[in-house]
Amino acid sequence: MDAFNYRNGQLFAEDVNIDDLAQRVGTPMYVYSRKTLEGHYDRLAQAFAEVDPIICYSIKSCGNIHLCKLLADRGAGMDVVSGGELYRAQLAGASMSKVVYAGVGKTDAEIRQAIEAKIGWFNIESEAEFENIAAIAKQMGAKANGALRVNPDVADPKTHAKTATGKKETKFGVDIERARRFFEHYGRDKHLRLNAIHLHIGSPIYSAEPYVLAITKALELIDELRKQGHEITALDIGGGFAADYESSAAPEAATYAKDIIPLLHPFKKAGGTIILEPGRTIAANSGVLIGRVQYIKMGGSKKFVIVDTGMHHLIRPTLYDAFHFIWPTKVAPMHVPTGRSKTMTQQGLETSDIVGPICESGDFLAKDRPLPPVARGDLLCVFTAGAYGMVMSSNYNAVPRPPEVLVDGSKATLIRKREVYEDLVAAERTTTAV
Ligand SMILES: *Cc1c(COP(=O)(O)O)cnc(C)c1O
Repeated sequence: MDAFNYRNGQLFAEDVNIDDLAQRVGTPMYVYSRKTLEGHYDRLAQAFAEVDPIICYSIKSCGNIHLCKLLADRGAGMDVVSGGELYRAQLAGASMSKVVYAGVGKTDAEIRQAIEAKIGWFNIESEAEFENIAAIAKQMGAKANGALRVNPDVADPKTHAKTATGKKETKFGVDIERARRFFEHYGRDKHLRLNAIHLHIGSPIYSAEPYVLAITKALELIDELRKQGHEITALDIGGGFAADYESSAAPEAATYAKDIIPLLHPFKKAGGTIILEPGRTIAANSGVLIGRVQYIKMGGSKKFVIVDTGMHHLIRPTLYDAFHFIWPTKVAPMHVPTGRSKTMTQQGLETSDIVGPICESGDFLAKDRPLPPVARGDLLCVFTAGAYGMVMSSNYNAVPRPPEVLVDGSKATLIRKREVYEDLVAAERTTTAV
């Protein structure tokens, strides 16, 4: 799961005492474990080694360039969804031929930037987008590769509506019927070579089955397309592999791979390239968010624990109804958690809402949550916050963003400094007539 564990009632990130770290760095802070990040990447790479995939880490899940660099150094490609993410991928030293670029609204400037960078594939989301990228490539006298994003019309019933993307009714990709016409129409373009199929059915997906259904449909489509003379050289099966928000909730990488790999073998044997786009399964358990208790407040029969972090630093609870295990960083022996779950059964727990300082009733990290007794000044750890945490943070209510710290064994390094008030107004300091 991860390297955030209690020793004698004190939470450590690898070999770094979190309370000591908070003394030096202040709160709130994001803390990442190198060992966890690399471990999740390595397990995925090993699990799928038989089909030797390009593993394009999804930058949008957690984009700090120092974390991306650790993965790029291990051979990861990058999955980007904007010019800004492509810029991050470049700073991280990722190989551009291993970059895939997804997203329904790529601008002309972003398309030019990606063609210049010579990325591996554009994931194509619509006819209009194909025509635009092809025209820009032609203007530039360049050639680019396109992977048509196909919407296989499958979904994991456990996936939240806001993160389900594999159904017909989402804005992403085209359905199978339209994919056939797409290839008929655009499949022979010289500048944007449509030579791959892209799937991404949503996230998180807690079993191999939806992938199996989607890949089966994609392979049938590829067979048909090949019979019609189209060359399909790559199949991108997307991301969405789950993470342990609760102990052992997510299948192991090997569990997904066991069911998926046999399907991919023939395609791979025939010289095809397999692409994966994992984000959260690598990043989520690699990071935690640490906040300090400011006040305890009773409201009717409800107890509120008010901390110095909230929806502005981690929006998942309010945006997706997401569960994050939250626990004090220092606890009595009886309250050392034996696992992370929604229902903790130790003696002496108190049910609380854990809320932030933002002026929104949606500013909560947890509701009706059993928690050991805490007091003003105590630290709380929000676990499994590495993915879709810092990247979705904001300056709402003019609160500076927290720093990011990378732990490697007993070493801790500030990889993004805490914002200061000047950062909040820097872009407003000068005005220009336009
Ligand atoms: C968000 C996204 C991913 C990564 O999803 P995870 O759940 O973080 O693995 C992969 N591919 C595409 C196209 C995405 O939009």
